[in-house]
Amino acid sequence: MSLPASPFDWAPKTVTSLIDGAYVAERGGHRLPAYYPGNGEVISELQEADAEEVDRAVRSARRAFNDPAWREMSVEARQAILYRIADAIDAHAVELATLETLNAGIVLRDVLSRQVVRAGYNFRFFAEAISQQPGQVWQQIKDHLTFVTRHPVGVAALIAPWNSPLALASMKVASAIAFGNTCVLKPSEQTPLSLARMVEIINTITPPGVVNLVNGRGAVTGAALVDHPEVDLISFTGGTETGRHIMQAAGRRLKPAAMELGGKSANIIFADADQERALDGALISIFSNNGQQCLAGSRILVQDSIFDEFVDRFVERARKIRVGDPLDDATEIGPIASARHRQHILSYVDIAKSQGATLLTGGKALDRPGYFIEPTAVLAPNNSDRVCQEEIFGPFAAFVKFSDMEDAVRMANESQFGLVGYCWTQNVDKALRVSQAVRTGLMWVNTPMVRELRAPFGGVKDSGLGRDGAAASMAFFTEEKTTTIPL
Ligand code: NAD
Repeated sequence: MSLPASPFDWAPKTVTSLIDGAYVAERGGHRLPAYYPGNGEVISELQEADAEEVDRAVRSARRAFNDPAWREMSVEARQAILYRIADAIDAHAVELATLETLNAGIVLRDVLSRQVVRAGYNFRFFAEAISQQPGQVWQQIKDHLTFVTRHPVGVAALIAPWNSPLALASMKVASAIAFGNTCVLKPSEQTPLSLARMVEIINTITPPGVVNLVNGRGAVTGAALVDHPEVDLISFTGGTETGRHIMQAAGRRLKPAAMELGGKSANIIFADADQERALDGALISIFSNNGQQCLAGSRILVQDSIFDEFVDRFVERARKIRVGDPLDDATEIGPIASARHRQHILSYVDIAKSQGATLLTGGKALDRPGYFIEPTAVLAPNNSDRVCQEEIFGPFAAFVKFSDMEDAVRMANESQFGLVGYCWTQNVDKALRVSQAVRTGLMWVNTPMVRELRAPFGGVKDSGLGRDGAAASMAFFTEEKTTTIPL
């Protein structure tokens, strides 16, 4: 892997909004620091977009949407643009991945092999998807033909979290513009760097105004965006409480809103599982992406007859995980994204202990600059304990014991969340029963986190509303029109 003399040279001094094809000029107003979580130092500064700047971004997207050259572009022409974006992302993969590591702390080797690859793939995927839109034609009513056409909705507000900026935001931008919409993307104020560069690259290919970027805090920039009357739909990924807030704004203006929210997913390990695979899967699902992922199998439910042995083996492996510099190829877990979030994660050690949990491993910050913590696991007495019910969003696993299948399903469903679930067993009947009985949007059996983009993805209960994926994204980002004509 070749990097410049200092990867920090890639971080811009200031990040401003990108509207109508160009970065806006620097000016006075509120600024926010962007940190490198690996040492806690400020590496860049964010110029916050106020309501007036958000208004300009939305109006730019509206102008671009009203231009028939974009809205009515042939599928082939739009596909060509999406493929060019994918190629450009691939060509800038090292730079984009480095910016993501510098700002979000995700291990560079992982961003290079996963997130940035996925960002390019998302554009290719939707380029393919728009060429395969199913048509609907009926001729049941005598002498009449009825058919359905799909039309882009308009200006999409796309709001992204900090935990995996490239992979998540690229999915939103690719699906919005593939179906003929224009958009305004608001990254998390904590992790603006990789997405600013991605939007800049996209703008070398798309007409001005098709993809705009605004930066700033949720309560200022985000709130102005979701409440803007010219925004036609909202796609949000983030925390459940923020989701509730945005749904209220969407409701006031009667806008469709898709919500990808938090999780506290059960990872059910039966005594008849292939234990080696289950162990690998459990470690990946809780510790990859520095433990900061909505899909984390953070509640590990293990059948009583193998409980002690499985937990011992998990702890032994967790203690060997290399935590450190996210730019180093040998690192497995990098820093937590912010000092505040590290405090949030560590606070759960005391919360767990106060409810009778045993600390199995970890539980402390690393004694070095940056926001590092030890991979942590606790043994919780009850599934109702806070450590099993609340989203910690870090490298922090909670183990609970179950007796049989009914017990496991009951515990898995005893949660406000319902994003994903994991089940490890070699018994097909059990796998089918559990996967259907656990109330989540997605279930992985004997495999962790394999994402098939054609299939719907999204949560139930407090984990979200709506789905993405080929057909689901088409349903969200287009409007159907039924036309009937006499023959
Ligand atoms: P967050 O809710 O704090 O922020 C998400 C985004 O919303 C940020 O860009 C933020 O600035 C913006 N925002 C905040 N308040 C706003 C408001 N009032 N109006 C408009 N925008 C506002 O979440 P986070 O801490 O950035 O991300 C972590 C959360 O995201 C976790 O709960 C995680 O589970 C969830 N997540 C879910 C998925 C999924 O696919 N379901 C994927 C990744 C992350």
